[in-house]
Amino acid sequence: MPRVSRFILVLGDQLDLKSAALEDFDAEHDAIWMAEVAEESTKVWSAKTRIAMFITAMRHFREILRERGWRVIYHEMGIHPTFTEALQADLDELKPQKLLMVQAGEWAVQREIERVAEERQVALEVREDRHFLCTRAEFAKHAEGRKQMRMEFFYREMRQRTGVLMEQGKPVGGQWNFDHDNRESFGKQGPGLRMPPRQFKPDVITQGVIEMVNGHFAKHPGVLEEFDWPVTAEEARLALRDFIEHRLAEFGCYQDAMWTNEPWLYHSRLSAAMNLKLLDPREVLAAAEEAWRAGKAPLAAVEGFIRQILGWREYVRGIYWHLMPGYVERNAMQAHEALPDFYWTGETDMRCLRDALTQTLRLGYAHHIQRLMVTGLFALLFGVDPRRVHEWYLAVYVDAVEWVELPNTLGMSQYGDGGVMASKPYVASGKYIQRMSNYCTGCRFDPAQSTGPKACPFTTLYWDYLLQHEPKLRQNQRMSMQLRNLVRLDEKQRAAIQMQAKQLREAYSKAV
Ligand SMILES: Cc1cc2nc3c(=O)[nH]c(=O)nc-3n(C[C@H](O)[C@H](O)[C@H](O)COP(=O)(O)OP(=O)(O)OC[C@H]3O[C@@H](n4cnc5c(N)ncnc54)[C@H](O)[C@@H]3O)c2cc1C
Ligand code: SF4
Repeated sequence: MPRVSRFILVLGDQLDLKSAALEDFDAEHDAIWMAEVAEESTKVWSAKTRIAMFITAMRHFREILRERGWRVIYHEMGIHPTFTEALQADLDELKPQKLLMVQAGEWAVQREIERVAEERQVALEVREDRHFLCTRAEFAKHAEGRKQMRMEFFYREMRQRTGVLMEQGKPVGGQWNFDHDNRESFGKQGPGLRMPPRQFKPDVITQGVIEMVNGHFAKHPGVLEEFDWPVTAEEARLALRDFIEHRLAEFGCYQDAMWTNEPWLYHSRLSAAMNLKLLDPREVLAAAEEAWRAGKAPLAAVEGFIRQILGWREYVRGIYWHLMPGYVERNAMQAHEALPDFYWTGETDMRCLRDALTQTLRLGYAHHIQRLMVTGLFALLFGVDPRRVHEWYLAVYVDAVEWVELPNTLGMSQYGDGGVMASKPYVASGKYIQRMSNYCTGCRFDPAQSTGPKACPFTTLYWDYLLQHEPKLRQNQRMSMQLRNLVRLDEKQRAAIQMQAKQLREAYSKAV
C-alpha cells in the first residue's frame, strides 16, 4: 500500500462532509480511516435497527468520499472485532505520521483513541465538532459558578447568541417559551388521518447491510423488515422538508400526546440523521423558523420544536462533557433493581408498555413522551439501577449516541444525578398516561386503582415511590404538591400499597 501521512479518523456518528477533520484533506497523502466493528454492537446489546442504521450510513458515506477520488481505508464487519485492534493493525502497517479526528461523541471512545495514539507514538490532533452550536468551552463557561444548570437559561442564552427567533434582541412573540400551549392530548377521536412520514426504502447498500446484520447479529433484539430511515445527507434533507411541510404546524400542541399503533404522530424523525451528522442542526432551525415567517406554522409549534434542538440537544451535550466520566456512575436514589426482561421482548400485560416496547423493537424509535413517561417512568418507579436503564436506551434506538442518551436517561428520566438535569423526578401515576393517550382503554388494569387485582402497576409503584423516598423528596419544594396527597393515605392504605409494590417487583422480575 502507498504511504500515508495522515489518517483522518471518521467514526460512525461523524458522517459530515463539512467536518473540521476533512477541511484540509490532502488527496495525495491522506487517507480517511473508518471501521465497522462488532464491539460497538455488543458492548451494549444493540438492536438490529441501530446497528443497521449506523453501518448503512457509514457505507453510503464511504461511497461519497470515494466518488471524490479520496482514499478511504474501510474495514467491513468481521475483519477486526474491536476498534482498537483495527486501528493498531493499520498504524503498524502504514505508519502514518499523524491521526486527525473530530472529538468523539463518547468519552470512553475518545480516551481509547488517545491511548492507542500514545502507545503507538503517533501524533493525534483532535478538532472541535462544529456540528454543534455550543462548544464544550462555551458550555463550561455557562456552567461556571452555577449550582443548578437549568435548560431554560441556557436556551435563552443560545437564542441570544444565535439570533434564532429573535428580533432586536428580544424573543419574537414577546416570550421565550410557549410550552403552556403545547400539552394537548387527542381526545376520544384520536389523532385522525394524517400524511404518513416520507419513507426511504432500502437501496442496494442498505439491503446488503440488512442481510449482514441479520446474519452477524441474529440473536440481537429487533427486526429490520420496516427499516426506512434516511441514511444519506440527501435523504435527511428530504425528511426535513417532509416534516416542515406536513407535521411541524401540529408538532407543538401534540408533542406530549400518545396513541396506540401511532409511532410518529407529529414528530420529525430527524434525531438519527442529526446525531450521525448527516443533517446540520442549523439547517433544521432555519427551515423551522422560515416556516413560521412564511406563515406556514404557528409560533408556539415552531418555538417548541426549536427549543428541542437549540435548547435540549445542545444542553444535554454540554452536561455530558461537563460531568463525564463520573456522571455514568451516579445513582442518587440508590436504585438497584434489574431491568425486567420484558424490555427486550415487549411481552407484558401493561398495554402502554407493550405498545412502546414493541414499537421500539420494531422500528428503533419511540417519541420523547413514550421514552420519558412510559418506558422511563416504569423503570424509575420500579427502582431499576440507572446504569442498566442507560444500557437499554443506548442499545435500542437508532438515534442512540452516549452524549445525548446518557443525560436524558440517567438525568432527566431516572433522576440518577439527583437533580442536575431535572428540578424534580418525573414521577406520575397511571392517570398521566390515561390523560395523554388511549393506552388505558382496553388495558386489564385501572389507572385509578393503586391496590387490588385491577390496580395499575404505574399507580401502585408511584405511591410506593413517594412513600419510599418521602424524606428525601420533602427537601424539594417542587415535590410538595405531590407529597401533600400522601398525607391522605392512612397506615393501612400505605401498607397495602407497599405490599402490592413488593409483589409486583417479584412478579415482573421473574416475568419473561
Ligand atoms: C430516556 C430518554 C432517552 C433518550 N435517548 C435519546 C437518544 O439516544 N438520542 C436522541 O437523539 N435523543 C434521545 N432522547 C430525546 C428524544 O426522546 C429524542 O431526541 C426524540 O424522541 C427523537 O425523535 P424525533 O427526531 O422524532 O424528535 P422530535 O420530537 O421531532 O424532536 C425534534 C428534535 O429535537 C431533539 N430533541 C428532542 N428532545 C430532546 C432531548 N430531550 N434531548 C436531546 N435532543 C432532543 C432531537 O434532535 C429531535 O430530533 C431521549 C429521551 C429520553 C427521555
Ligand atoms: S392502566 Fe396502567 S398499565 Fe394499563 S395502559 Fe394505563 S397506565 Fe399502562
